Amino acid sequence: MQPRPVNMCEEQTVSLVDILQEDEELEEEASAVLAGSDSDHCSYPQGYVKRQALYACNTCTPKGGEAAGVCLACSYKCHEGHDLFELYTKRNFRCDCGNGKFKDLQCKLHPEKDELNTLNKYSQNFFGSYCTCGRPYPDPDDQVEDEMIQCVVCEDWLHGRHLGCTVPDSVELQEMICEACMNKNPFLWVYAARLAAPGAAAQLTESQRADESNTNRPLKEPQVDDAVEPSCKRLRQDAEPSCRLKELQAAAQKAEQSGAVFWPSTWRSKLCSCSACRERLSEAGLPFLLDESDTVLAYENKGKSSEQTQQGHDPLMSALDNLNRVQQLEIIHGYNDMKSELKDFLQRFAAEGKVVTSDDIHHFFEQQSEKRRRESCT
Ligand SMILES: [Zn+2]
Ligand SMILES: [Zn+2]
Ligand SMILES: [Zn+2]
Ligand SMILES: [Zn+2]
Ligand SMILES: [Zn+2]
Ligand SMILES: [Zn+2]
Repeated sequence: MQPRPVNMCEEQTVSLVDILQEDEELEEEASAVLAGSDSDHCSYPQGYVKRQALYACNTCTPKGGEAAGVCLACSYKCHEGHDLFELYTKRNFRCDCGNGKFKDLQCKLHPEKDELNTLNKYSQNFFGSYCTCGRPYPDPDDQVEDEMIQCVVCEDWLHGRHLGCTVPDSVELQEMICEACMNKNPFLWVYAARLAAPGAAAQLTESQRADESNTNRPLKEPQVDDAVEPSCKRLRQDAEPSCRLKELQAAAQKAEQSGAVFWPSTWRSKLCSCSACRERLSEAGLPFLLDESDTVLAYENKGKSSEQTQQGHDPLMSALDNLNRVQQLEIIHGYNDMKSELKDFLQRFAAEGKVVTSDDIHHFFEQQSEKRRRESCT
């Protein structure tokens, strides 16, 4: 059959055959979004990986036992057909596949592992529960449409409606710290009063003002205009290198200290990195907050830039780009299953001589995630 031109939008015409041949490139882009999460090799030899896609196996390590996490490659090769929880990405984790946490299973990819990975951190997510409400995701009993947002500190996923704050519109661009993590690290409230998105640090409530049991150090009454930055002049006059956190504390606004906090994109660079603050962050287990390359966004960008070899403007990729991060990850995580279906889908168009539009591709992805939702309900 002669390839028909496929009209993707006014200025862009590609042939369907081109799209089918770009299967390989689609795969590359998928790995770009997964950034370094290798689908063929167990990540164990890399040690505690800075950030990687992770899975928990409900078949091998069900609730009631010990939590364990396995890498992307192990999820495919060692746990095929098992009931897996997708954990998206987590930081500083070493693959557990087949180690002491598993009774029978032998890792096919890297069987030589220590009994335990003592530095791994586990959470309810490893048993398929999320948020302060401890529900599964997707949740068959929950009809409310709500976004799950990952806390950058505990890395749990929380329902937007369970954050205790207004969820900003540009939620994909912002890092969020949940209320529990804020309260565990009260100094973050000092930053929040100055840096966090409006709406997150809302008005001080009467109950808050009256709350004497607040364990946080009482903050001074506002004395300076909120827009005034800590004085740079003062910084230079000091003989000692001064601590930005201390300055903020001195000028702190009485802001509400409840609910999750959404941070603007450059917030990590605004944290004080004096030696006392670095120590404080380390002791709190939060040294990664000073590391811009720790963010999910940096992780994804790293993957994308390492795949920058292909320059062509693939309409399929533009469609992917237009999805939000969670949708992207859902698609990429189910990528191997989806790949053949996508091919079938496109081939149907080819067979019928029909034109593929961006809408069709969007529709395909929607069907896919709906299908996954249904599957996980059964
Ligand atoms: Zn592994
Ligand atoms: Zn398994
Ligand atoms: Zn394995
Ligand atoms: Zn919830
Ligand atoms: Zn948290
Ligand atoms: Zn400091």
